[in-house]
Amino acid sequence: MNTTSIIACPACGNPISFDIYGLLAGKRFCCSHCSAALALSSESYGVVGNTMQKFEALKASAGR
Ligand SMILES: [Zn+2]
Repeated sequence: MNTTSIIACPACGNPISFDIYGLLAGKRFCCSHCSAALALSSESYGVVGNTMQKFEALKASAGR
């Protein structure tokens, strides 16, 4: 399964592609436009949580 997701850069809104499991493992991803670092922080937990919920929903529906 492709675990790459796109998130809008919190600084400039440029889409940043990142690997959800890499992010959860502590890897940082940088915005190619403004070089803002995307890493798991308290303010990004909500976004990651939403994404993970989508993954879980996908997995659940695929398993049926
Ligand atoms: Zn940016």
